[in-house]
Amino acid sequence: MDYVLALDLGGTKIYSALVGSGDQIIKKDVRPTEAAQGKEKVIANILASLEAVIPSRSRQDGLIAGIGVGAPGPLDSRSGTIFFAPNLEWQNVNLKEILENALGYPVFLENDANLAALGEYLYGAGQGHEDMVFITVSTGVGGGLVLGGEIYSGAFGGAGEIGHLVVAPDGPLCPCGNRGCLEAVASGRALKRKALDLIAAGKGRRILELAGGEPEGVEAPVITRVGHAGDPEARALLAEAGRYLGLAIGNIANLLNPSLFIIGGGVARGAGKLLLGPARAEAELRVFPALRDFLKIVPGALRGRAGVLGAAAFARRKLRFNHREELANGHKAQDQS
Ligand SMILES: [Zn+2]
Repeated sequence: MDYVLALDLGGTKIYSALVGSGDQIIKKDVRPTEAAQGKEKVIANILASLEAVIPSRSRQDGLIAGIGVGAPGPLDSRSGTIFFAPNLEWQNVNLKEILENALGYPVFLENDANLAALGEYLYGAGQGHEDMVFITVSTGVGGGLVLGGEIYSGAFGGAGEIGHLVVAPDGPLCPCGNRGCLEAVASGRALKRKALDLIAAGKGRRILELAGGEPEGVEAPVITRVGHAGDPEARALLAEAGRYLGLAIGNIANLLNPSLFIIGGGVARGAGKLLLGPARAEAELRVFPALRDFLKIVPGALRGRAGVLGAAAFARRKLRFNHREELANGHKAQDQS
């Protein structure tokens, strides 16, 4: 089969890849998104990143069949419009059209966490689990649903926004404008904010030390490192985030009864059991007792590659589907003549 391009557009980094069959990444490019510099700069970075993985002779040879793109949503996969991406400060941007016009390949856009879920389902920790939920804990919190072996994106493309499940009704403000969303209490950004609150209150001495004595240096990886070194304050921050994550998992388990929850994302990876332990305990406490035995929570297996591998698989699925449609329409036209 032809190669496909895959793009995972995140709030902090852009990951592009040239993908062969299955999970074979032939070439990749990772660079900063630079979201603070505005939409035009981000689009220029996306194009430069994709160009970096396109083999030089591929344009003449027709080697590349299409591009799968994972972007923060909610978005309309069909038209290719990103409705609202608070971390990029984008509203109603038709990324599909922009990329198709610039590169000349068909583009298939889907929510980034949905594609990471598909990647884990096909090639990672979710293999064999036709009904599974993926949650990514990184700068923000995202979620993706695979139900019956397919991405479930809902009637209007907005399903799976697990980061915006409200778990603390009077909690802190979320970038989406609501209060107490999972993202506002369990993301890397939330951990940073809570650590800075501690420091402002004259506490969190070891977190501040590892941040080089500067509050600006406090980031989620610093907190998880201090936590692994045994600092009780850092551990308490991670445990609190984990409990909120578990609360959300318990609720989702009651709604969907999936056979697996996969927790991915840089912050979850860094924190490991300091986050997943409390999450598991809280989820077991919250899930409907009859469903407790089905609760299975594991870390992601693909690390940063879940998004691009899912994007590549999504593009291939869409290309195959379009090809079948064309064939079917061709037969119909022949039958009528
Ligand atoms: Zn929110």
